[in-house]
Amino acid sequence: MQFATRLDNVETSAIRELFKLLGKPGIISFAGGFPDSAMFDVEGLREASQKALAEEPGGALQYGATEGYEPLRAQLAAFERSKGVADMEPNQLIVTTGSQQALDLIGKTMISPGDKVIVEGPTFLATIQCFRLYGADIQSAPIDAQGVQVDRLEQLIVEHRPKFVYLIPTFGNPSGALLSLERRRRILELAVKYQVLVVEDDPYGDLYFGEAPPPSLLALASEVPGSREWIAHCGSMSKVLSPGLRVGWLVAQPELLAKATMCKQFSDAHTSTFAQATAAQYLKSGRMPATLRNVRQKYAERSHGMAEALKRELGEAIEFTEPKGGLFFWARLSGRGGKPTHAGEFARRAIEQGVAFVPGAPFFAKDPDLATLRLSFATADVDKIREGVGRLGRAL
Ligand code: PMP
Repeated sequence: MQFATRLDNVETSAIRELFKLLGKPGIISFAGGFPDSAMFDVEGLREASQKALAEEPGGALQYGATEGYEPLRAQLAAFERSKGVADMEPNQLIVTTGSQQALDLIGKTMISPGDKVIVEGPTFLATIQCFRLYGADIQSAPIDAQGVQVDRLEQLIVEHRPKFVYLIPTFGNPSGALLSLERRRRILELAVKYQVLVVEDDPYGDLYFGEAPPPSLLALASEVPGSREWIAHCGSMSKVLSPGLRVGWLVAQPELLAKATMCKQFSDAHTSTFAQATAAQYLKSGRMPATLRNVRQKYAERSHGMAEALKRELGEAIEFTEPKGGLFFWARLSGRGGKPTHAGEFARRAIEQGVAFVPGAPFFAKDPDLATLRLSFATADVDKIREGVGRLGRAL
């Protein structure tokens, strides 16, 4: 069959191939990006869905507006205000089918074939694939533990004049990195200076383990005159509440939001009204703060458990910065003591030992670092994490 040429640049990810091996019995997986289903607030969501049906069956079961279910838009605006976004009104956001759809809508509205886009190296794989599908020529700005290196980013903006810059400033996937406050300010200044759209993908910002991270770019924009119109912000209920709900949102300036809404209309008409009404009832119920405290504490324990185990079992063969939030460790094989430096090779040996992770190379749009890997601590408890890291030690 003859498929559209836009598919020529995109392949199913190497990671999906690896997932096929995960069915092996007894395997401990650090490979996935899923939150832990044991942490879902099932009771709260049951109540919320029942209320949605009892109180507003028309709204919850009927077709709805493409922009989103009004009570949910109001709740999400309040949620963003609670995180420091000044003057956030419901009509400044649309509800999307996961934040993945918000990213797709940005791709669809902004990218013509051959357009330049700058992302972080490494970044979220599905975003790379999505932007490639629209024909983007993707450039990659390096990161360190403080997030994207702003001097390099500025050079790339000057050199490539991109359509937009895509960043995960808070606990990136896969990097786990946290962009510093000072770099956040500088990025907002760059957005104004070069009149370039900055897309802030923020599904992990609420998952911090100690003190709260710096405000989102969207929240900080009120401190940098003229920057708010250059920020598009993607939020998600997936990592804190439930990814199966498929509730995300996009905040952007009116023109971009209108174009994105038009594209969404042709794609899925609107996000499930039942899911939206459930999410709205959940936010209204006041359970969210306790849910957030619970997931933060549990993931923090797992993250600390993984950091300790990695230091103990892999020692100087591996380099990493312990994340301050999110779901991932990003690590690099140092090659010290004659140990391997090829993460793909190491992944195969690890699977033989009964533990899985993903090599880092596919997360780079350009110039992959073959020694890198991503480990998720989300779905195993601390004992399993210790056992799994022990197996990694043996594989090494
Ligand atoms: N952005 C990033 C960085 C992610 O890691 C994910 C989920 N893995 C998403 C977006 C998409 O999440 P969702 O569509 O479930 O909101």
